[in-house]
Parts: sequence; C-alpha cells; structure tokens
Amino acid sequence: RKQQLQKFKHLPATTRDNVIIPLLANVGSLSEFSLLSDVGADGIGLFRTEFMLMNVSVMPTENTQYGLYCDALQLLDGKTLTIRTLDIGADKEVPCLTLPTEDNPALGVRGTRYFLAHPQLLKTQLRAILRAANHGKIRLMFPMINQVEELDCLFDLIEECKRELDNEERGFGELDYGIVVETPAAVMNLASMLPRLHFISIGTNDLTQYAMAADRTNPSLTKAYPSLSPAILKLIMMTIAESKQHGVPVSVCGELASNPKVAPILIGMGIDELSVNVNSLLELKSSFCSQDLSTYKKWAQDVLRLQRIEELNHYISHCS
Ligand code: PEP
Ligand code: MG
Repeated sequence: RKQQLQKFKHLPATTRDNVIIPLLANVGSLSEFSLLSDVGADGIGLFRTEFMLMNVSVMPTENTQYGLYCDALQLLDGKTLTIRTLDIGADKEVPCLTLPTEDNPALGVRGTRYFLAHPQLLKTQLRAILRAANHGKIRLMFPMINQVEELDCLFDLIEECKRELDNEERGFGELDYGIVVETPAAVMNLASMLPRLHFISIGTNDLTQYAMAADRTNPSLTKAYPSLSPAILKLIMMTIAESKQHGVPVSVCGELASNPKVAPILIGMGIDELSVNVNSLLELKSSFCSQDLSTYKKWAQDVLRLQRIEELNHYISHCS
C-alpha cells in the first residue's frame, strides 16, 4: 500500500475530474519541513509555533524567532506558510512561562486570551513575523478567537508593532490575517470578523471540544467527544456559508480533515483547502482522485441530512 501511494508524491491532490484541492501540512517544528517534499504538500497550513517552547527554559527572543520564520520561508521556497501565533494554556503547557493555576484551564486564559493578557510576548512574536514577511508571503492566524473585540485588540497591537518597526527603520512585509475557528461563538460571530480577515481555518479538535463541552484530552469521554457528528457538520456548514458570503476562503486544519473518508465530504461541502498531518497526505490524495467533485457534493448533501452518529459512520464507511 505504501508503495502504491508513492505515485502521488509528485502529483497535486485532484478529484477524478481534475479539480485541484490545495492540500497543506500541519507541522510543529522546522525539522518536519523536510517531510513535505516526500508527500508533495502544497505548503504549511498550520505551523504550531508553541512547539518551539516545549523544550526551552527561556522564551526565544525576537531575533531567534525572526531567524526561525525566515528559515521556514526559505525551506518552503514560495509555497504557502501559515503561522499560528503561540497557542498556550489548556492542554499545552510550556516550561518557560508560568501559566495561572485555573480550575478549568480549557475554559481559561489560553490561546489568544493569554497573549492579550501578556501583550509584550505577543508583540515579540508579531514583530518577528512582520520582519520575516519582508522576505516572503506569510499567512498569520490567531487561535481561540471568539469575537471581534479580540480582533480589535490584535490589530491595534499589529499597528503598534508596525509603527515601532518603521521608527527603527527595520523592513517588514504585509501579512494575510486569519483566525482558527474553534469555538461555537466564533462560528456565530463570523459576520463581524470576516470583513477584517483574509482567510479562516476550522480547528475541529477544539471546535468539537467546545461544542460538545467535552474535554478533548479525557479518554473516558470518547463517546461524548465524537470526531464526526451532526453538530460538528452543521457548525462547519454554517462557517462555510458565512465565509462564502464574504468571499473569504475556508480551510480545515483539525484532525477531521486527516480522515480520508471525511476529507472528500468536506470538499463537497465547500471547504477550499485542507491542512493535515504529513503522514495522512498521500492517503488523502489517493482518496480524492477516486470520484468527481459532483459526487463529493452529493455525499455532503447526504451526510448533512443524517441525524445520528452511527448513520454518519455507516455512510462514510460505505462511500468510496
Ligand atoms: C484544533 O483545535 O483543531 C487545531 C487545529 O489546533 P490544536 O489541535 O493545536 O488545538
Ligand atoms: Mg485548537
């Protein structure tokens, strides 16, 4: 099977009727960038930058981060680079920062909330990314955004960073901005946020956790945390419908997109691009080329009508 999949290595992901599907990779470190050419990924759809903090005792400086993002651009050689700002808190602990002790960390000061409470940390990362963007196109996305007020604060900080860089006569580039849609509130509030965004990406891991009110790390909640459910499909569909109205492209970067049975259905629903684990990428290419786009649209219509998880799982295991 592995050998069979090798033929997709140098091919783009396409449906049987040759519709190209941008297929990007989720990575956590520069060392993984070298794997992209093994699977022919169209770039990085999610660079989880908090991984750079996992094994260090002090926060990387602006210059260290700048070097990292410049290296990333160079390794990608013109392919898409999507950086997510540090997503810390909840299940993501980092030794170099003291996080508050909270009763419900997943509902606490995590992701962008942590950064808005510590703007200096965020500014260090923003400045490094803005400077790196002088050397190539970067898409920047923010995790755990619920409402437009958070975007107001972020864009104020970005303007502040740009002013500082201007005064210091340091070069910087313009970025494309996006958010990870990972709470039901974010889905509901898209209309106010989309006019300010260039793209969005659905983080189905957290979106499922927050929609089902079920801890994604708790192994005894597997039934309460179904990866595929009518609720999550409806949230995804609402996100797509709202984004299409605003002409903003939508990707999925959560685990759901790595499932070769589900990915064609996401495309059928109208998702523009997927970002998945490097080791799922060839399997997805193989899955996409089996049918025409019109079939995936039909599958999407069908699954959106199903009301039970069992029916959904049965449906997807029989369509191919
Ligand atoms: C998600 O929540 O789906 C996601 C892509 O981000 P992470 O798994 O890093 O929280
Ligand atoms: Mg997440």
